[in-house]
Amino acid sequence: MKRAELDSNTIPCLLCERDVQMGHPNTSLTDIEKSNFDQGVECRTHGNYGSQVWDMDGTIFFVICDGCLVKHSAKMLVKERDHSETNKEFGEVLKGKNPKPIYKPVRNARDYYDEWFKWLDEKYNDGDSYYDDVSPYFKK
Ligand SMILES: [Zn+2]
Repeated sequence: MKRAELDSNTIPCLLCERDVQMGHPNTSLTDIEKSNFDQGVECRTHGNYGSQVWDMDGTIFFVICDGCLVKHSAKMLVKERDHSETNKEFGEVLKGKNPKPIYKPVRNARDYYDEWFKWLDEKYNDGDSYYDDVSPYFKK
């Protein structure tokens, strides 16, 4: 089993152990809070009451590669931002005097990804490089 080594700028995916690299050069895992990961997501938890091994004692970090995020999405839930009542720019969910993000109801992440890839497949399946990068995740 691979280990997360602090002098490295890659970390093994929690699920498949593929090395996922930090997006910024000259960083190491000691900077995990300052960098995004290429083709993967950093996840963190403070734990919770009920866990017998991690209960608010700090933060645990781990990374899941993009392929595993899609592959295992049926076991995940998603709380997606709702941009329908905003200016529809990604990340722009602020509106009104005391703006707060608007969210859609929680649902199964696999349903989200199936809809998202259907949209992507209809719009960009004509040689787009992003489509070419992500479509293998949905065709396994
Ligand atoms: Zn993985």
